[in-house]
Amino acid sequence: MSTKQIEMVLAPKQPHFVGDGFRVHNFIPSGYGLTMERMDPFIMLDYASRYHFPPTGKPKGVGVHPHRGFETVTIAYKGSVAHHDSAGGGGEIKEGDVQWMTAASGVLHKEYHAESFCATGGDFQMVQLWVNLPAKDKMSTPKYQAIENSHIPKIKVDGGVVEVIAGSYQAHQGAASTFTPVNMLNAKLTSGGSAAFSFPSNHNTCILVIEGEVILNDTEDVPLDHLALFKNEGESFTIKATQQSIVLILSGEPINEPIAAHGPFVMNTPEQIMEAFQDYELGKFGELAD
Ligand code: MN
Repeated sequence: MSTKQIEMVLAPKQPHFVGDGFRVHNFIPSGYGLTMERMDPFIMLDYASRYHFPPTGKPKGVGVHPHRGFETVTIAYKGSVAHHDSAGGGGEIKEGDVQWMTAASGVLHKEYHAESFCATGGDFQMVQLWVNLPAKDKMSTPKYQAIENSHIPKIKVDGGVVEVIAGSYQAHQGAASTFTPVNMLNAKLTSGGSAAFSFPSNHNTCILVIEGEVILNDTEDVPLDHLALFKNEGESFTIKATQQSIVLILSGEPINEPIAAHGPFVMNTPEQIMEAFQDYELGKFGELAD
């Protein structure tokens, strides 16, 4: 196996608010060359870097909106989110938990800061990812995986653990089921801790530094809140923490099908996008109260 080379290290862009509760830096797909096609099957990555919200009696967040054609994955690093969808899925995503919602044929959902979080206020830090679905699964039945931190396998490494959210690490299977090969890991390392990773060279692979600072392949420094993208060459890389660190690692096999995306819908053709808007207007995504 050869070393996976680093293509670029990216600083977070200026944040913007999604609704009034999610202050995010978008990494995929706007700007930087991290297009949906380049990062496929990771077609959207919004990163809410650590941000303090004061206490409030009125939960902040995003109201009812639709999705079709992909999965939304929310990883909570700080703070807590309440979620409800028109397929009956729902719950609270607490610190360390992951919510994996398969929108597929279509759901309505809403995402708000949890009442318990609003009561006290506090630091809020999350990643929201959209994972694409292959054409054959885009219109499948919606599904919801609530993954509590205690159910995520934690593999010991030198100076820390690797949490296997999806895919596998050292032959340990992740907590989430996926439609295509996707590896989603959190490396939680103490200062000086390190871990090695290996993914097929054709996988689109990147890391995001959630806490601390790390060195990739003993050469490339990646500061807090920065994303490092790997070339589609080589398989193996190492992460070494220069301070206590948390790193999100994403690696996925490209689906390599045409992508037609508009707002909350990601399909294969413009006609399917039109159909999604029509079905939404017709109420085919179900019902969900504000
Ligand atoms: Mn959403």
